Amino acid sequence: MLEIKDLHVTREGKEILKGVNLKTGPGEVHAIMGPNGSGKSTLAYTLLAHPKYEVTKGDILLDGESILELSADERAKKGLFLGFQYPTEVSGVGFSHFLRTAYNSLSKALQGDDREVFITVREFQKYLKDNLNKVGLKEEFLSRYLNEGFSGGEKKRAEVLQMAVLKPKISILDEPDSGLDIDAVQAVAQAISKVAGKDSTIIVITHYARILKFLDKLDYVHVFARGQVLKTGDASLADKLESEGYDWVLEQKA
Ligand code: ADP
Ligand code: MG
Ligand code: MG
Repeated sequence: MLEIKDLHVTREGKEILKGVNLKTGPGEVHAIMGPNGSGKSTLAYTLLAHPKYEVTKGDILLDGESILELSADERAKKGLFLGFQYPTEVSGVGFSHFLRTAYNSLSKALQGDDREVFITVREFQKYLKDNLNKVGLKEEFLSRYLNEGFSGGEKKRAEVLQMAVLKPKISILDEPDSGLDIDAVQAVAQAISKVAGKDSTIIVITHYARILKFLDKLDYVHVFARGQVLKTGDASLADKLESEGYDWVLEQKA
């Protein structure tokens, strides 16, 4: 489904990704774990076509087709979703309005025609409420501005809510656990598990194994360091990294 091949990326002339290889399939949950500054966020931004990151070599394929030439918007319309490490507050943009606009724009792209609205505001509100329950956010959030005044945990749940509503093929969540207390980490992990589906792929980028323990399922763990995927294993690799750190992997690959 998503395949990253020998991906090299520079930012402001500095090479950060140095030959990333990664393959994911439908229904799979992947974790990318690695030290700070190793390039995890760079990979996430590159997947979503952030203009500051330049691909100098390699390819990104979605369902066998290169998406390198596509804009962020076009990639989103192909079913890619990025949950940010630091979601931004957008004053003046209602959360519910934002979700409905995004939903309708994606629906149009996926159905390939130009109808303005696919479901009524009322139908959409019902759809949102069902999804709010899944991620454990209260209804009052829908009438607030996007992320404005949300706590850390609420922002992360709001990202998972977007994922639930938009039903992307591939979701990349960049440190959905950063800055959260342990209860919030568990809640976010449960919300991720609830919206994971048999046709969608989830990639959780994290520094710590604790969020992974709360996921219902975890198929692959990738160790990311020095701008590359250095090692891939099953869920037990996350535990080993937590108890032993990353150095042993770096030494193996030195
Ligand atoms: P991670 O998410 O794994 O912590 P990042 O992808 O954020 O790592 O960063 C990878 C490398 O790119 C680091 O060495 C970092 O210092 C560098 N980097 C990140 N952002 C910038 C920036 N705005 N300008 C220059 N270098 C950056
Ligand atoms: Mg970091
Ligand atoms: Mg990061």
